[in-house]
Amino acid sequence: MTRTKINEPARDIPVLMEADIVVVGGGTTGPIAAIAAARRGKKVVLIERFGSLGGILTLGLNTKPSGALIGGIPLEIWNLARSAGGAGDDYMATTKTGGVKIASPTDPEIMKMLLTRLCVEAGVQILFETFVSAPHVEEGAVTGVIIESKSGRQFVGAKVLIDCSADADMAAKANAPFVMGAGNAEQTMQPVSMYFIMKNVDLQRLADWARTCDDVPARAIPADVEGLAYGLWLTGFNGMLRRFQAETGVKLQRDNITLKTADGQMYVNATRVLGVNVFNPPEFTAAILECYRQIEGVSRFLKERVPGFEAARLGQVSPILGVRETRHILGEYTLTGPDSRGETRFDDTIAADVSALDIHDPKGGDVDFQSMPPYEIPYRCLLPQGVEQILVAGRCISADHEAHARSRNMPACMATGQAAGVAAAIALEEGVRVRDVPVKKVQAALRELGMPLRAEEIRAS
Ligand SMILES: Cc1cc2nc3c(=O)[nH]c(=O)nc-3n(C[C@H](O)[C@H](O)[C@H](O)COP(=O)(O)OP(=O)(O)OC[C@H]3O[C@@H](n4cnc5c(N)ncnc54)[C@H](O)[C@@H]3O)c2cc1C
Repeated sequence: MTRTKINEPARDIPVLMEADIVVVGGGTTGPIAAIAAARRGKKVVLIERFGSLGGILTLGLNTKPSGALIGGIPLEIWNLARSAGGAGDDYMATTKTGGVKIASPTDPEIMKMLLTRLCVEAGVQILFETFVSAPHVEEGAVTGVIIESKSGRQFVGAKVLIDCSADADMAAKANAPFVMGAGNAEQTMQPVSMYFIMKNVDLQRLADWARTCDDVPARAIPADVEGLAYGLWLTGFNGMLRRFQAETGVKLQRDNITLKTADGQMYVNATRVLGVNVFNPPEFTAAILECYRQIEGVSRFLKERVPGFEAARLGQVSPILGVRETRHILGEYTLTGPDSRGETRFDDTIAADVSALDIHDPKGGDVDFQSMPPYEIPYRCLLPQGVEQILVAGRCISADHEAHARSRNMPACMATGQAAGVAAAIALEEGVRVRDVPVKKVQAALRELGMPLRAEEIRAS
């Protein structure tokens, strides 16, 4: 007998706890949302399926916001990381459209500890190793979430839910509308990748060589040795990669690769798998195996062809696959390409952002990484249609495929998390739905946190 489905009997679910605000996903965005809400005195529960905070930023070994952190809690966190030796100076990276100010990469281990400490100090109840399987919706409004842990299935009550799952899991399961990737028939989406670390790299030798190498056109190379620990960033190697593949028969998937340092170790962004349905477990697993194969090939390329890597060894492979794009919610407003190029001003802006445009060609071509003017993100991009008391923050906000190439960057994700936390708290203080929160009050609170909200403010700074 071939089974296509089974029947799960209905059952009562024990209530584990009640919260004012539940934040789903303790990745790049979720901790910022949780801290912002808890600092306003709300009872916040932050639920994370893994055993540490930071998501792609830390576990994913990403480490580097592709833009400046311009204010608020994200900047506070980076400054704390800096004073703990977990980040260096910001730097200017060259791109084909000009310079981009990049916040220093951070040491993922220091960042995990820091995010956790700030959550605990703010009074956030973290639930690690807990998967949120569904939101609970009553009369069109979210009233809590169903969680799964070693204890089985339990319920956490919430007056507001902030979906920082990156895939809009909660909004989608609450039947809010969304599109996958570009929302076209092919569901065009940026590819997945897996970071890894090479240890024992001679950074000085690499920097000296890269300064004179035409094959590494996008780069930041600090003048001093100390700066190399956090400030060395190199993108390119296109010609060298082509020659290596032709001469060895090793098949890699990217035209170029990116290297960057954090705490003196080399973080490598060089793998790629196209067209993966990340919601299909066997396909997801196959993508991880393909990344492992590519990591072996790229490590060999680096050791054999790039000065400074002669004695290098594989230091760590990220325990998670890096997913760039899946669902985009269809919110009260969808950020468009022109908006993300800085062409629109919004009355309900909740963040200004100056992240780079960063598109990995869904069809496998080169990476388009460009400096762009600052732009604004409106509150309505965080508000899913059709379901009440839920906000979405992070990479799955309501933005089209082009705008997402900017808003998926970590500075923008963290800024939307901060805004969602503040807005959820203010909605509860005012006794209104999150859809009806007085945006002017949210903006005033964000300004008190030191967050610029207007594109012109960043231009001027
Ligand atoms: C390979 C790669 C390279 C990138 N490079 C850069 C870069 O150089 N600079 C830059 O600024 N940006 C970069 N980005 C983009 C950026 O890192 C991400 O878009 C951003 O970190 C996403 O933040 P997030 O909080 O939305 O998601 P995540 O950081 O992925 O966090 C989501 C969290 O939710 C948890 N979660 C998900 N579902 C559930 C559930 N049902 N229950 C419980 N927990 C759940 C996850 O475990 C995770 O911790 C890159 C992305 C990738 C994949």
